[in-house]
Amino acid sequence: MQNHDRIHVIGGGIIGLLSARELLAAGRSVVLFDRQELGRESSWAGGGILSPLYPWRYPAAVNRLAAVSRALYPELCQRLYHNTGIDPEWVSSGLLVLDDNEREAAKNWAESESICLEPVDALSLRSLEPVLAGRFSQGLWMPQIAQVRNPRLIAALKHDLLRSGGDFRENVAIQGFSGRAGRLQGLVTSAGDVSVKQCLVAAGAWTAGLLQARGVPLPIEPVRGQMLLFRCRPGLVRHILLRDYHYVIPRRDGRLLVGSTLEHVGFDKTTTVEAREALQQAALELVPALADCEIERHWAGLRPGSPAGIPFIGEHPGLKGLVVCAGHYRNGFALGPASARLAVDLVLGREPLLDPGPYRLDRR
Ligand SMILES: Cc1cc2nc3c(=O)[nH]c(=O)nc-3n(C[C@H](O)[C@H](O)[C@H](O)COP(=O)(O)OP(=O)(O)OC[C@H]3O[C@@H](n4cnc5c(N)ncnc54)[C@H](O)[C@@H]3O)c2cc1C
Repeated sequence: MQNHDRIHVIGGGIIGLLSARELLAAGRSVVLFDRQELGRESSWAGGGILSPLYPWRYPAAVNRLAAVSRALYPELCQRLYHNTGIDPEWVSSGLLVLDDNEREAAKNWAESESICLEPVDALSLRSLEPVLAGRFSQGLWMPQIAQVRNPRLIAALKHDLLRSGGDFRENVAIQGFSGRAGRLQGLVTSAGDVSVKQCLVAAGAWTAGLLQARGVPLPIEPVRGQMLLFRCRPGLVRHILLRDYHYVIPRRDGRLLVGSTLEHVGFDKTTTVEAREALQQAALELVPALADCEIERHWAGLRPGSPAGIPFIGEHPGLKGLVVCAGHYRNGFALGPASARLAVDLVLGREPLLDPGPYRLDRR
C-alpha cells in the first residue's frame, strides 16, 4: 500500500485526535490507527480537569503547555460544538483547593502565571460551596480553572475529523516500524504492512512498548487511576473540589466524578473494593451530602506516566519521520491542545510553538 502523501497517527486518544485535527487544519491528509474503538483508554477514563492538580508543584515545562492549552480550549470547544452538535461541556467551574500549607507556593505561582487565585476564609467557603463539610476553615479559590466532559470531547473530535476527511482505521494494531538508512519506511500492522514516510505516535501508556525495538527506551509506564461516578441533583456541588489529591468534579447534569488512585500495577484495569471505599470516604469527607447519592459506576484507566509528568514530544533520534507525542501522565487533557500543536509543528517542520528542548525523547 502506498501512502506517502499522508501522515499516519497511531492512537486515537485525546492526543492522537487533537494531533490529527492539527494536521488536517494544516491541509495534510491523515490516517489514524487505533487497535480498538478509539477514545476508550485513559482519555475516556479521566476527569477532564483542565489544569494540573497543584500546578505550582510541577516543572515549568508542564505549566507552559498547560497555559497555552488553557487559552486554546474555549474556541476549540465552541468550534467543535458548532461543527458537530456535540457539546464537550467546557465549563469554567473553578477549583477550590482545600489543603493546608499550599498558600505561599500557590500565590507565587499564580502571580508568575497571571492566574487569579484568592485565599478564602470559612465564610467565603460556605458561600462558594454550601454543601462543603463544615470542618474546612480556609481554602484557595481558582475561578478560572475549567473542565470538559471527556467522552463528549472525544466524540466531538471524532465527528469533526470525519467531517474534515480524516480516515480512521479502528481495530488495527501497530506492531512495529520498518526503516532504512535511519528513515521511517513502513508500519507493520495487524492488517498488513503499510508504506509510510511520516508518522506521529500517540499511543499513551503503550508508547514505550511500541518503540522498544527501535533503540530509544522511553520511561513511559502505565499508572492506574480509579474513579467513582455519583448521580446527584444538578447544582448540588458547584465547583471542582480538591484535597490531598482527591477531587470531586460536578458535571452539568448532576453527575459527579470522584478521583482518583495512583497505582503502579502494570497494564491492569481491574477495579478494587479498597479503592472504591477509599474514594467514597474521601468524597464524603468533602461533601457529606453525597451519602444520599447513588454510586452509578466505578472504573479504572491507565495514565501514560512519565518522569515529573513531562510528556515526550519530539522526533525519534534514530528514525527520521517518526515523531512521538506521549507520556502526559495526569494531564493529557490539560496539556493536549498545546502538545498536539507542538508535535505537528515538528512533523511539518514549522516554527515550533514552544521550545521543544524540554520534551525531547533523549532528554536526561
Ligand atoms: C482516573 C484518571 C483521571 C484523570 N484525570 C485527568 C484530568 O482531570 N485532567 C487531565 O488533563 N488528565 C487526566 N487524566 C490523564 C489523561 O486522561 C491522560 O493523560 C490522557 O488521556 C492521555 O491521552 P493519550 O491520548 O496519550 O492516551 P490514551 O487515551 O490512553 O490513548 C492511547 C490510544 O492508543 C491506542 N493504542 C495503544 N497501542 C496501540 C497500538 N499498538 N496500535 C494502535 N493503537 C494503539 C489505544 O487503544 C488508545 O486508544 C486522568 C487519567 C485517569 C486514568
